[in-house]
Amino acid sequence: MPPLPNRPTWIEVDRDALANNVRKLRRRLAPGTRLMAVVKANAYGHGAVETTRVLLRAGADACAVATLSEGLELRDGGITAPILVLGYTPPHLAAEAARRDVTLTLYDGDTATAYAACVQPGDATRLKVHVKINTGMNRLGVDPADCVALFEALRDLPVLDVEGIFTHFATSDEFDRSHTQQQFDLFREVLALLGASGLRPRVAHAANSAAILTMPDTHLDMARAGIALYGLDPDPEQCPLPDGFRPALVWKSTVSQVRVLNPGDAVSYGREFIAERRMPVAVLPVGYADGFPRRPQTWEYVLVGGQPAPILGRVCMDQTVVDVTAAFLMNGAVDVGDEAVLIGRQSDLRITAEDAAARVGTNNYDIVSRILARVPRVYHGGNA
Ligand SMILES: *Cc1c(COP(=O)(O)O)cnc(C)c1O
Repeated sequence: MPPLPNRPTWIEVDRDALANNVRKLRRRLAPGTRLMAVVKANAYGHGAVETTRVLLRAGADACAVATLSEGLELRDGGITAPILVLGYTPPHLAAEAARRDVTLTLYDGDTATAYAACVQPGDATRLKVHVKINTGMNRLGVDPADCVALFEALRDLPVLDVEGIFTHFATSDEFDRSHTQQQFDLFREVLALLGASGLRPRVAHAANSAAILTMPDTHLDMARAGIALYGLDPDPEQCPLPDGFRPALVWKSTVSQVRVLNPGDAVSYGREFIAERRMPVAVLPVGYADGFPRRPQTWEYVLVGGQPAPILGRVCMDQTVVDVTAAFLMNGAVDVGDEAVLIGRQSDLRITAEDAAARVGTNNYDIVSRILARVPRVYHGGNA
């Protein structure tokens, strides 16, 4: 059993599931390919430091985050593996990154010059950087035509250690792989061009979870996996996980009050729900400030007493009222302290992150990464 959380709404993370997913994914990589665990956004809501520790212990070689602050949280938590910041880091933070041995992403010469000016040559370590290439996602990255010039400029900045080069796929979770193949072909052309001039960095990487699963050619020196490590589908229809992966996260709450409404009684702000019959309802101490969405679309129902409990009226900041008629009929009672399941299993029923995503009108990445830090995470399984 996991330890008791310090709040009646909490996340349980299964270390064994995380470790299992690392091993399953590793088995698909060529022996020489390193695995980078993407642990941005609080490890997709699973809790940054402990999740990263478990993933590294199970066989990941490095980790990636979105911001320097996320990288420093891992260093403060005792993580010594390589950490790559995938997003933009302003130059005034470059010296801190160098001191704490956090690798930054670069894609233009001006920022490179500014980084170099901020990192003192006397500092014990150089600043490690990976250069990001835009091959068609048109988010961050230097365009292929400007690559050689950028790498030549980087060669003249010895305080920067240009360790890696990478790109990111826009559609690798779709059935049609042609656009991903085009992106990858372009990336390989860039690698060849740089190789011919002796400018190719040591570590090239491109694949995300979907590409790891479906396009083995793209694995290169390292692959970056996020969603699959958490046991969630890159896409439920077009790129579901193969058998054997297990979701690691369960989200629970607790009934904090039960009452019976009479016909005409309204629930929550704005009195949007009005009872048409006598009905038992339960209050749950979870709301939109936990990442349980308010509008326009909600979860629609949670599980109480092994039955669906539909959300009534508006979800509040910290509380939600649900209809527990079905649980009453089945079990004869619903009591304060009873467990409610938001993601996970209760008796024969199950709500997956993918189910919740379909109702809310988003994807499973959004569902788990929006669960706020004030929801405590408790860990079970594995060795602590
Ligand atoms: C988030 C992210 C990943 C991980 O993607 P998954 O689909 O979760 O495997 C990889 N690379 C970059 C650049 C990312 O931003």
